[in-house]
Amino acid sequence: MFQIQIDGSTTHFPCAPDDTLLRAALRAGIGFPYECNVGSCGNCKFELLEGELQNNWQDAPGLSEKDRLKNRWLGCQAKACSNARIKMREMDHYKPIHIPTESAATLIHKREITHDLHEFSFRCDAPLSFAAGQYALIHVSGVPGPRAYSMSQGGASKERIDFQARLIPGGVGTQKLFSMPLGEKVRIDGPYGMAYLREDSSRDILLVGGGSGLAPMISLARGALSLQRPSFQNIHFIYGARESRDICGLDMLSELPLWTSMGHYTAVVSNPSAQEVLPHGCERGFVHEVVQKLHAKDLNQMEIYFAGPALMAQAMLKLLVELKVPMSQVHFDQFY
Ligand SMILES: Cc1cc2nc3c(=O)[nH]c(=O)nc-3n(C[C@H](O)[C@H](O)[C@H](O)COP(=O)(O)OP(=O)(O)OC[C@H]3O[C@@H](n4cnc5c(N)ncnc54)[C@H](O)[C@@H]3O)c2cc1C
Repeated sequence: MFQIQIDGSTTHFPCAPDDTLLRAALRAGIGFPYECNVGSCGNCKFELLEGELQNNWQDAPGLSEKDRLKNRWLGCQAKACSNARIKMREMDHYKPIHIPTESAATLIHKREITHDLHEFSFRCDAPLSFAAGQYALIHVSGVPGPRAYSMSQGGASKERIDFQARLIPGGVGTQKLFSMPLGEKVRIDGPYGMAYLREDSSRDILLVGGGSGLAPMISLARGALSLQRPSFQNIHFIYGARESRDICGLDMLSELPLWTSMGHYTAVVSNPSAQEVLPHGCERGFVHEVVQKLHAKDLNQMEIYFAGPALMAQAMLKLLVELKVPMSQVHFDQFY
């Protein structure tokens, strides 16, 4: 175990040789800023002042050439090879609400949600505690680096963990996951993520998911509608699909006891073929356009969560900034 000292503070934390600095800090309850945890966003950058580190992923896109020259590293990719002193700014906002742990897990069930979005259930050797909306990292043997997937359950302490993943053409991790036989072992590390359910908010909830962003929105709906005394009145779920065959989620929501009285579901199709007849109530366009059309006037009074492809998330954020929605009511972990 190595000791990592944060410069200018009394904070230090232990880091196992096979862990990363970011995850070791979070395991010690420290508010180390981050977002994606997989080398892409660059939010977990820090400067190395003393000691020796190694990069898990040399070419991670979250770090520029200029960063490397300035001895900056990514917390999610840096492994300790000695004790070290680093410069970074701790932020209470990032203190974990559940301490992340890693467990061996076995694939026990798979089911098709749509033609390219499947659910994968794993049984972990030790239960994983998480809040609705959080994600975990799956380490699959033969795949370089872990992949992040959001849990679709409503938050709890569970041995069985369900993920919903979209098959990415040419994607190394999803090709492996979709062809994985039942009984195969992986390692699951979590929970992570800041877009978790704000249980004490009494604002109406808006959940916006696009494509692979289904799982965290289903998880949030399940979590919100299983609260003992929900103080909000309405939960709006907007799901963006490319074609009608990609529309999904309503069957899972309709099973929730309070859905009938509080839930509102809208599917949005961005790329229907010329001959396609869209289901009743389905909108055409992009999800952010439909959010604006249906909710522009109420967004300021809502707790807003979204997840999905990078372009969708950027368009949502731009809209919310233009409409001056307070960012304290907006929650998302960017997908990469
Ligand atoms: C917070 C978060 C939550 C997510 N939740 C979901 C979800 O619920 N459902 C879903 O379908 N998708 C989700 N994703 C996307 C998912 O993690 C994968 O990026 C996606 O499934 C494509 O993986 P792939 O391996 O098939 O594609 P690839 O293109 O092979 O890899 C994609 C990602 O893997 C990482 N990677 C690639 N090469 C390396 C390497 N050599 N070393 C280390 N890392 C590498 C990078 O982060 C890259 O962006 C989420 C992503 C994030 C960041």
